[in-house]
Amino acid sequence: MRCGKIIVRDGWVICPVCQKGKLLKVRADTTARNLPRKCKRCGQETLVNIEAPEPASKVTSA
Ligand SMILES: [Zn+2]
Repeated sequence: MRCGKIIVRDGWVICPVCQKGKLLKVRADTTARNLPRKCKRCGQETLVNIEAPEPASKVTSA
C-alpha cells in the first residue's frame, strides 16, 4: 500500500496535516482513489487513497 500518510482511526480518515480533523468516513470495504477531501479543521486538501484490503475472488461468468 503506497498511499500517502493516510491515518485511519475509529473508521475515519484523519487529516495527515493537523491529525485532528476527520476527512472521510470509511468502512472495511471502502476504496478511494485520489479523492480530494478538504479538512474542515485546518483547511488543507488531502488526496485520499484507500485500497481494497483483499481482492475478492473474481467471478467470471462465461
Ligand atoms: Zn487538518
